[in-house]
Amino acid sequence: MRALLLSDIHANLEALEAVMAAAPPHDVVWNLGDVVGYGANPNEVIEEARKLGRVFVRGNHDRVCAGLDGIEEFNPVAQRAARWTECVLTPEHREWLRHLAPGPIAPDGPFVRCVHGSPLDEDDYLLTLRDAFPALDTSTDVRLTFFGHTHVQGGFATNGDDWFRLVPDFGHHRAPRHPQAPPAPPEPEQFELELREGARYLLNPGSVGQPRDGDWRAAFALYDDARMTVTWYRVPYDLREAQERILCAGLPDRLASRLRDGR
Ligand code: ZN
Repeated sequence: MRALLLSDIHANLEALEAVMAAAPPHDVVWNLGDVVGYGANPNEVIEEARKLGRVFVRGNHDRVCAGLDGIEEFNPVAQRAARWTECVLTPEHREWLRHLAPGPIAPDGPFVRCVHGSPLDEDDYLLTLRDAFPALDTSTDVRLTFFGHTHVQGGFATNGDDWFRLVPDFGHHRAPRHPQAPPAPPEPEQFELELREGARYLLNPGSVGQPRDGDWRAAFALYDDARMTVTWYRVPYDLREAQERILCAGLPDRLASRLRDGR
């Protein structure tokens, strides 16, 4: 079984289209949430994402844009984007967002689970080994947890004795990138991780629509349970078009400029 992992598309239609054009053959799509928020095409992205599969975990932006939560926790830019998204969503799409399942969900037996933030709290950010420590709970059968929310491709692992941070190694331009590093090249790249027997993993496919690890290219991953591998991918997309749509929609400029920086 090959599962395509998508997370944090954030209403970026150009990025989603580029990802699906580049995606290797797969049997299922597992979506880790934040389908909407920030980007200019929430309705089109929901439509495309629903065509791809039925496995979804809700994200915090999905919750807020569907009116399930207040916007107080968001910064002013995210608040403006959430208000705009709520206004343009069709009633059907809003209803669909309202009924997304909170994580964790188990799409493939007891050993694998999908969450948005952390298995302990859907809104937690797993950015450091310290964050990951309690989330890599050794008391359950779960060996592999896929998460999103941070918009940073990579993850964490433990063999019970040692703890590791995992970063896809794209050679000289490895993420997370230094702020002064030159922009990532406009070509696709991939990095394969072999899953080891007895180890536990927390893995983030990265963000399709608003990467924050210094690499502007759309991020996703593929889990292959026969080969026991997870492959991380980066693909270029029509950044200018996505930025143009954000500006034309009257969304904050920062939401367009940050796409170029991958921050
Ligand atoms: Zn997000």
